[in-house]
Amino acid sequence: MEAATHTDELYRIRHSLAHVMAQAVLEIRPGSTLGFGPPIDDGFYYDFILSEPLNEEDFPLIEKTMKRIIKKGQAFEREDLDASAALARIEEMGEPYKKEYAQELLDGGLDGLSFYTNGPFVDMCEGPHVENTRKIPLGAFKIRSLAGAYWRGDSENVMMTRIYAWAFNSKEELEAKMKAHKEALARDHKKLGRELGLFHLDETVGQGLILWTPKGSVVRNELQHFISKELTRQGYHQVHTPHIGKLDLYRTSGHFPYYQDSQYPPLIDRETLKKLADEGTSCADLACSMQEGDIDGYLLKPMNCPHHVKIYDSEPRSYRDLPLRLAEFGTVYRWEQSGEISGMTRVRGFTQDDAHLFCMEDQIADEILGCIELVKIIFTTLGMHDYRVRVGLRDPDSSKYVGDPDRWDRAEEACRNAAKSLGVPFIEEEGEAAFYGPKIDFVVKDVLGRDWQLGTVQVDYNLPERFDLSYKGADGAMHRPVMLHRAPFGSLERFVGVLIEHFGGAFPTWLAPVQTRVITVSEKFDDYGKEIVERLRGHMVRAELDDSSETMGKKIRNGVTSKIPNLLIVGEREVEDRTVTWRRYGSREQETMSLDQYEEQLLERIRTRSLN
Ligand code: ZN
Repeated sequence: MEAATHTDELYRIRHSLAHVMAQAVLEIRPGSTLGFGPPIDDGFYYDFILSEPLNEEDFPLIEKTMKRIIKKGQAFEREDLDASAALARIEEMGEPYKKEYAQELLDGGLDGLSFYTNGPFVDMCEGPHVENTRKIPLGAFKIRSLAGAYWRGDSENVMMTRIYAWAFNSKEELEAKMKAHKEALARDHKKLGRELGLFHLDETVGQGLILWTPKGSVVRNELQHFISKELTRQGYHQVHTPHIGKLDLYRTSGHFPYYQDSQYPPLIDRETLKKLADEGTSCADLACSMQEGDIDGYLLKPMNCPHHVKIYDSEPRSYRDLPLRLAEFGTVYRWEQSGEISGMTRVRGFTQDDAHLFCMEDQIADEILGCIELVKIIFTTLGMHDYRVRVGLRDPDSSKYVGDPDRWDRAEEACRNAAKSLGVPFIEEEGEAAFYGPKIDFVVKDVLGRDWQLGTVQVDYNLPERFDLSYKGADGAMHRPVMLHRAPFGSLERFVGVLIEHFGGAFPTWLAPVQTRVITVSEKFDDYGKEIVERLRGHMVRAELDDSSETMGKKIRNGVTSKIPNLLIVGEREVEDRTVTWRRYGSREQETMSLDQYEEQLLERIRTRSLN
C-alpha cells in the first residue's frame, strides 16, 4: 500500500475524516476534550479525553454518525487568524490541550494559526482537506481500535483515548486491508504461542522474559542444531560464557556507562555490599560511585563481545590462528521500556545467534561472504525467499568514525560486494554505519508481505583497539586484528516469533514439536499405536499416541487444531496389514501405506529439512 503524501487526495480524505470522526464523537459524548487527530499510513486517528468511555460496541454508532455527517455535505472552510484572534478562538472552543499547543506554536515564533470549520466543528489545523464532506467515499473507512495514548506521547501527561480508523480510496482497498489484517491476527505469534503452547510469559518472572515451554524449546533446539551444523561446516568454534561480567570489562568495551539506560542496573558482590553497609553508603552515593568507577560490580551482559574478546586474548595469537571464529548462542539482557515490550519480538532477555570473527584486514571480504552464505542457506531452508539487505556506510561529511579512511573504503567495498553476491535486492545507506565500522542488515518479508528486521553483520575497528588485541604477523611484528560481529537472525526469541507467524504455527515436520501423532480408531488398537510410537521414537522422531477417550473425529480435529504435520490413523485393517493411514496437515486426503514406507519418507523429510 503506497503512503499518502500531503498533497494527494487520499491524504485529504483521511485528514477530513479525522475531523468528521471528532465531530461524531463530540455528538455521542458531549463534553469530551480533543487532543491531536492526524492522518496516518492506513487511515487516521484522533485522541480524546472522553466524558464517558467508549468501547468496541460503540464503533457502529460512530460510523453511522460519521456517514450522516458526510452526507450533509459540510464544506471545509479555512480561516487564518493572527495570534490574538487565534487564542481568542481557541478559548471559545474550550479546548485546553489545543490551547496549550497553540500557545507553544505562537511562543515558538508563528504569527498566526489556521482553523478549519466543517458544520458545527472547528479545529485548529493546517489542512489540507477535501472541499466538502461529499468528496469522502462512504464505504471506504472503518473504525478499527481503541488505545491509550499520553498527550503528546509523554508519560508525564494525561492519558487520552485514541480511536484508530482505516480509510482508503475505495471499498475494495478497505476490504483487502481488513482481510490482510485478519490473517495477520490469525498468525499473530502471541496468540499462536499461547494456543499452541510454544512459550509463556509470567508477570512474576518478569516482563519481557520468555519462558520456553517444552514445545517451543523443540523449535528453538532444532534451529540451534541446524545453525550449529552450518557453523561447524564453516569452521566456527562454539564457546560458552557466563551471563554476567565485571563492570570494568564493560567500561573497557564502552558498553558502560554509555548504554546504561538500556541495561539492567549493575549487581554488587556480597563483600562490597557489606563494606558499603558498614560505611553507611546511601543508594544514591552507590549509583554515583559505580558510574564513576570507584566501586566495581557486575553487569548482566548486554553483549557477548567482551567475553569473546577475552577468549581471543587468552593466549598469544599468530596470523596462522586467523580467522578465529567464536560462536555462542549467548543470552543477553537489555532494559526495554515496558511500553515497548511485545511477545517474543521485543523482550528484555534474549539469546543471540552471536559470533565474533577475529581476522586480518585482507580476510574481511571472505568472512563477510561466509556470513552471507549462512544467511542464504538458512532463509532458503525455511522458505523465506523474499529478503533484502541494507548496507550501512559512513556519512561522508562526518568525522565521528574511528579508524583509517582507506581501511573503511575497503571494508565498505567488502560489504557491498557481499551484498551483491547474494543476488537479492540491496540498498546502501550513507550515515547508517556505526562509528566503529560499516555493517549489513537483513530484512525478511513474511508471507503477508510484512518486513521484519532481523540481524546484522558488523565490521569493528574499535573493540580490538580498546582491548589492545594483537597477533603476530608473518613478518614477525605484532598487528591489530579486525573484529566482525554477526548475529544474522538477531535473537532466537525474535526469529522464532517471526517463524511462528511465517508458518502460521504449522511448522514443517523437521521443526514441529510433535512430528507424528497416532490416532487409534478404538482402544483395541492401542497396542499397535504404541508400537508405532516406540518404533518412530527409536529413530529420534517426536511421536505420540492420542489415547484419550474422544471419538476418532474429535481426535483428528484436535490434531488439526494443534497443527501437527502428520496424523496416523490406525484401525483393524491397518493392524492386520501392518499399515498406517496418513493424513497431512492442510490436506483432507488420506493415504494408506506400509509402516515401513511411512517411516522411510518421514525420516527422509526430517533429514533434508523439507518444507513439505
Ligand atoms: Zn558483538
